[in-house]
Amino acid sequence: MSTLAAQHQPSSSEEDLIALFDVRPTDAPTPPAEREAAIAAPKFGTVFTDHMARISWNSTDGWVDRRIEKYGPLLLDPATAVLHYAQEIFEGMKAYRHADGSVWTFRPEANAARFARSAHRLALPALSVDDFVGSITALVRTDVDWVPSGDEASLYLRPFMYASEAFLGVRPSLEAEYLVIASPVGPYFSGGVKPVSIWVDREYSRAGAGGTGDAKCGGNYASSLLPQVVAQQHGCEQVCFLDSGTRTFLEELGGMNVFVVKADGSVETPELSGSILEGVTRSSIIRLLTDRGHDVVERRIPLTDVLAGIRDGSVTEVFACGTAAVITPIGRLAGSDFDHTIGGGEAGSLTMAIRAELTDIQTGRAADRHGWLRRLA
Ligand SMILES: *Cc1c(COP(=O)(O)O)cnc(C)c1O
Repeated sequence: MSTLAAQHQPSSSEEDLIALFDVRPTDAPTPPAEREAAIAAPKFGTVFTDHMARISWNSTDGWVDRRIEKYGPLLLDPATAVLHYAQEIFEGMKAYRHADGSVWTFRPEANAARFARSAHRLALPALSVDDFVGSITALVRTDVDWVPSGDEASLYLRPFMYASEAFLGVRPSLEAEYLVIASPVGPYFSGGVKPVSIWVDREYSRAGAGGTGDAKCGGNYASSLLPQVVAQQHGCEQVCFLDSGTRTFLEELGGMNVFVVKADGSVETPELSGSILEGVTRSSIIRLLTDRGHDVVERRIPLTDVLAGIRDGSVTEVFACGTAAVITPIGRLAGSDFDHTIGGGEAGSLTMAIRAELTDIQTGRAADRHGWLRRLA
């Protein structure tokens, strides 16, 4: 069963959660005109709000000093554990401004639960759902003027945790820092959604059995950067990885899960094998497809099945999904011995319908029938 299905609601009210955070406002807030300009034309991940949330941990006292403080550089001892052994995890979420001005986020308890699972795998301390949701709520309330409005604009939230002990020995760090930073983002696709081309890599793997593939950690991204460059050298925008054991089955992209739509209306996605990251978007899409009456099959999907299906017309659409781009249609799959166009290189109709449905729920244009939204401000 999907671990995302077992969600915990925070035990306390928003007010109780944020009361734990000491808000220490910056002495140099960004002037409103400058802020408005930054929000109007943001380039992904380059502009940050005035504050960040922070909680410190040590093995004696546990989590201490919950605070909202001025956004700024971290001072690190050169021996800080994360710089040597990559003991680090992160999350990616968004805050959406609805038409009435209120600000909401999407399934934060699922991200909190995944963050705790990632922490466990990376031998970092568990952060409670309350602290996770409380930190993003307190930060978004402090920097609420930074939440953009407008179609597909949002405030991207990046919670992360790293091993902060200055110590070169190889064992779990006895100190850690948890932070949340926030960055206004515009539409992922400027000029409308357009299909991407994917290089299916047979040389490199993202994750192996028993590794960290199902944890959201920086190390997985480090190992996916070179294959991403290789994909670009082959004229593709993104890379798709196969299972490391047999190089037979589809796994996922460097930071997005994949779905395959069949002509008979059924939809397939790679099963959670331990080396695939369980996306919140993936699980939400499975739910929306099931609601529409589509048969959704989670299984090991041989690449050869997908290629044969594209050739004989039984595979009609392929798409990738994740918080940043929501859903990205895939118009072309290429590899060392094949180069296939899918659906004439156009975005598929089910792909776009599900994309619209999900973004409508997130932005308050459609009813939140599954209770996925949580108000932040
Ligand atoms: C974050 C991530 C995803 C997408 O997860 P969402 O929760 O949908 O944003 C997929 N694959 C990898 C490797 C990721 O790191």
